[in-house]
Amino acid sequence: MNYKFATKAIHAGQEADPTTGAVMTPIYQTSTYQQKAPGDHKGYEYSRGTNPTRKALEDCLAALEKGKFGLAFSSGMAATDCVLRLLKPGDEVVTGDDLYGGSYRIFTKVYEPLGIVFKFVNTSDVDAVTAAITGKTKLIWVETPTNPTLKLADIEAIGRIAKEKGILYAVDNTFASPYLQNPLDLGADIVMHSVTKYLGGHSDVVMGALIVNDEDLYKLLWFYYNACGGTPGPQDSFLVLRGIKTLHLRMKAHCENGRKVAEYLKNHPKIEKIYWPGFEDHPGHEVAKKQMKDFGGMVSIVIKGADLAETFRVASGFKVFTLAESLGGVESLINHPATMTHGSIPKETREKVGVVDNLLRLSVGIEDADDLIADLEQALSR
Ligand SMILES: *Cc1c(COP(=O)(O)O)cnc(C)c1O
Repeated sequence: MNYKFATKAIHAGQEADPTTGAVMTPIYQTSTYQQKAPGDHKGYEYSRGTNPTRKALEDCLAALEKGKFGLAFSSGMAATDCVLRLLKPGDEVVTGDDLYGGSYRIFTKVYEPLGIVFKFVNTSDVDAVTAAITGKTKLIWVETPTNPTLKLADIEAIGRIAKEKGILYAVDNTFASPYLQNPLDLGADIVMHSVTKYLGGHSDVVMGALIVNDEDLYKLLWFYYNACGGTPGPQDSFLVLRGIKTLHLRMKAHCENGRKVAEYLKNHPKIEKIYWPGFEDHPGHEVAKKQMKDFGGMVSIVIKGADLAETFRVASGFKVFTLAESLGGVESLINHPATMTHGSIPKETREKVGVVDNLLRLSVGIEDADDLIADLEQALSR
């Protein structure tokens, strides 16, 4: 489909059901499919590998990321795991030093013991990425903007290096969503999503996805997807299809509220530091302007002079924001990375990249911005 984003969000992968005309994709709640004779079937054999509701979602995800093939997983981590299965002992991976905590955990606690070598570098610095590459580097894994300090990596510049050296290049596009940024267009081979976040958008589903253009790569990933079996069920696939129908509207509202909240917090006397790529003095501002449609709804703040206890007091004092892990839902969330999402990263490692004890991460939702700002005002003045 050559349609624009909003049209694809509502229609891609979804046609009226051929048997009944149902406009919404049915929830094909079945594990198996009748065969007329062995091997004589309609393309569906067993739902671990293929399910029509999931297939509609995968086609929709592929269209939104301007890719040819989509694969949905039972979580973002299952999607990441599927990519890592392409590696063999001795292979090296160059990745960011400011990653989602769960990505850091699967790299260091699951795959490092199997003999895969991970090099953590500042992916905002293209030279640092280049310097870490050796003849054994098989994968570059980039997250941008990063979680939680919203550092930007130049997707296209890293893509040129990956291509030149023949290294597989994956981008975790969770924070931007396909509405704001399309890594495949900028040279990535694989786009990964925690669908749990903006794509699902309503904090009611855990799911992941991979989107690729290359058919051989798709087939290889599909092999592990089916062989290892971390695939989602039809109910969740339906919920995400429904969530995606408003992705463009939600993202516009997230960006608008993110901007208002960031601007309010920037000069607040209790704020020592604020991370939001929309500010001209944010180190990744130019890269963000180049590769993203807008600056997103994630804002991180450092509370001035606060110790852990005082930071906890602020984090627990909100009435509209909910203290919880995760992000990207319609409701505003506040998170304490050091003890929540990034609790699995050693203190020294996380502090090096700014995940200090008095850092709070806001996932700005789409409530009325005035209410969000009033809530921040009361929580910060306690
Ligand atoms: C949440 C998240 C993941 C992991 O996804 P799950 O759906 O929780 O398994 C990976 N990367 C980023 C950036 C995330 O925010």
